[in-house]
Amino acid sequence: MSRFSAVDVITTKRNGGVLSDEAITWLLDAYDQGDVAEEQMSALLMSIFFNGLSARELGTWTDRMIASGERLDLSGLSRPTVDKHSTGGVGDKISLILAPLVAACGAAVPQLSGRGLGHTGGTLDKLECIPGWRAVLSNEEILQQLETVGAVVCAAGQGLAPIDRKLYALRDVTGTVESIPLISSSIMSKKIAEGTGALVLDVKVGRGAFIKDVDRARELAHTMVGLGHAHGVETVAQLTNMNAPLGQAVGNALEVTESVEVLRGGGPSDVRELTLALARLMTKLVGIDVDPAKKLDDGSAYETYRQMIRAQGGDADAVMPVATIRDIVLAPEKGVVQSVDALAVGIAAWRLGAGRARKEDPVSATAGVMCLVREGEKVEKGQPLFELHADDEVHLESGRVTINGAVRISGEARKSSKLLLDFVSN
Ligand code: URA
Repeated sequence: MSRFSAVDVITTKRNGGVLSDEAITWLLDAYDQGDVAEEQMSALLMSIFFNGLSARELGTWTDRMIASGERLDLSGLSRPTVDKHSTGGVGDKISLILAPLVAACGAAVPQLSGRGLGHTGGTLDKLECIPGWRAVLSNEEILQQLETVGAVVCAAGQGLAPIDRKLYALRDVTGTVESIPLISSSIMSKKIAEGTGALVLDVKVGRGAFIKDVDRARELAHTMVGLGHAHGVETVAQLTNMNAPLGQAVGNALEVTESVEVLRGGGPSDVRELTLALARLMTKLVGIDVDPAKKLDDGSAYETYRQMIRAQGGDADAVMPVATIRDIVLAPEKGVVQSVDALAVGIAAWRLGAGRARKEDPVSATAGVMCLVREGEKVEKGQPLFELHADDEVHLESGRVTINGAVRISGEARKSSKLLLDFVSN
């Protein structure tokens, strides 16, 4: 008979009290084993949503999530390990470029990634557009590829912090996703279990991010950086603007094509700017004194990308599939683009077929949106604003309805907004 009861733990937190290490450990283990009911965990999550967790409670909670599964050991690699995690944005294809770029600079980048859900895309969905490319690797394959190529982008194994999957699914249906301690422990438990020595967090803020407000994003960044440090992972965070989509392409194959353009030295300037800013932070954290811009411009990052794709069975030279149906959205008036709403564009890409509503849903490789104008740009009436890509008319119509009004145009001048908003190292 345990000396703890789920009801006592729930009421302690509901009343603003502090949970002991033993109570947290007992509760998470009992939930993992099915001895704490879903409705009890839901009540506790809601109490945490309103009353938070102290730094000590959060540390213990995160430890327990890590201990619920396996922990990769990357310490035998000859290169220093460093990873990046983004809290999720629209058109965020940075991982595809950043992992090979930082590997080309001399680090090992274990990008254990997920699939997209809702309006933000998933890195694996994008790479799966490449014929033959395999998302699922064994731990031995991950280690070998990190040693030989230096970069792996693959599915995070089911064994890493498995309790997070249960908790995340429950948070999703109980309105408890947007809690700073719960987000922090969810993200950091997986990254710490992955075994990286250093980590750069890209915390997205704005219309297309799940955190809209810069102060809350800063608080999330401080909390995650603190957790990283407490677990021996060198961690820093970059707050970045997610009011407008990143780059022009939003959609799986469209984003792969744009990533390759950046890897070949071209592509949209905001994608290049953010990739280089994150690459500089990553290389600095592990003491590598190489300018990532040189590795992008001299072709070494692109060569590493090709090796990375080939190592996972992909055809790095394959032409990306394109949608059978396209439509152009035109500017309704002349003026200056005041904003391009990342959330509206993300939802439109999702409705066009690029995203999924439930995690079992398939995604279209080819559907998506090309954003043809940017904030601050002058447009004429009738000028193309977006190109919509879909596999059938039903999806096209659904995307067309959603994207209406995603660009705001007026006669006022408008400077483009800053991309890099703040930096947090605690
Ligand atoms: N991503 C995660 O992995 N967990 C969260 O709670 C939110 C975003």
